[in-house]
Amino acid sequence: MDLESRAVTMTSVGAQPKWDAAEANKIYNLPFNDLLFHAHTVHRANFDPNTVQFSRLLSIKTGGCPEDCGYCSQSAHHPTGLKASKLMEVERVITEARKAKEGGATRYCMGAAWRSPKDRDMDMVIAMVHGVKALGLETCMTLGMLSPSQADTLAEAGLDYYNHNIDTSERFYKEIVTTRSFADRLETLGNVRQAGIKVCSGGILGMGETAGDRIDMLVTLANLAEPPESVPINMLMPMPGSKLANAAPVDPIEFIRIIALARILMPKSHVRLTAGRTGMTDEMQALCFFAGANSIFVGDTLLTAANPGDDRDSSLLRRLGLTPAALDSAE
Ligand code: SAM
Ligand code: SF4
Repeated sequence: MDLESRAVTMTSVGAQPKWDAAEANKIYNLPFNDLLFHAHTVHRANFDPNTVQFSRLLSIKTGGCPEDCGYCSQSAHHPTGLKASKLMEVERVITEARKAKEGGATRYCMGAAWRSPKDRDMDMVIAMVHGVKALGLETCMTLGMLSPSQADTLAEAGLDYYNHNIDTSERFYKEIVTTRSFADRLETLGNVRQAGIKVCSGGILGMGETAGDRIDMLVTLANLAEPPESVPINMLMPMPGSKLANAAPVDPIEFIRIIALARILMPKSHVRLTAGRTGMTDEMQALCFFAGANSIFVGDTLLTAANPGDDRDSSLLRRLGLTPAALDSAE
């Protein structure tokens, strides 16, 4: 089936086809204008192309992580100089969430530098979910790996989304992380889905992976029984002291091609332009939005890294005629 009819079929019947790497490769390598035309066609068929979903990310427990993710400033394996902190007080989290809502965020994402949460932490984490939800925000947590019972506990607390990025292809994963496996990541995604929580999962470009690795990462996500509702695509922010501190920069055109491919393979998912936007030109971001990116983190920090901040984002979105998505359409 050629791409045109497939793109139309896929969007018209809403069916989520299964993809193979060869087909995804063919799409990725289309002439740039053809690729962006198809991605934008699929995007328009599924979303208002002139709205962007705003999320806000808060590090509720920073640093001292026992995992050795090569990109991460929070890993205790890397001398990044980051000062570790203990789990933030619930009241402080809710205060920060209230400010995020006033800033137009519809989703509040809380991240902890854990391999997985300890049972002793769960009461405070649950109180955060309750408190942020009571503000009328969608809640998201990213706490590392989850057991089925931990996922069920978070679902009972009313958690809306759980982020757990697969980060790259299965083939390349062990070059980036050795303290857990790609299968561990997929197992947590399965536990989260089983518990009835929406899934946020994506990855990073710029870690030394090949285009094939990037494409395989998207095919893995698209071929999950249910693709993630949110797909964060990060551009590596080289962290001093981390294993990837001297990684080569990503070619912006290749980055935009991956955004377009994510859109085509997962037509109903929010594709989030995530870390690394401080290193992107306005034009690069504009092309990413045209290619189907329709979610960003707002605010001047991510977990521990810089983010463009409200002034730069509102200027760019205003010049592009993009507006924040309202909560009901920000699914
Ligand atoms: N500790 C939790 C975990 O590992 O699942 C929280 C993850 S938190 C959302 C960090 C995510 O942001 C990682 O999964 C990775 O995709 C991304 N990230 C972390 N450091 C990054 C960096 N230096 N550059 C780009 N993306 C990064
Ligand atoms: Fe730990 Fe998460 Fe950073 Fe990996 S990405 S080192 S699990 S905080």
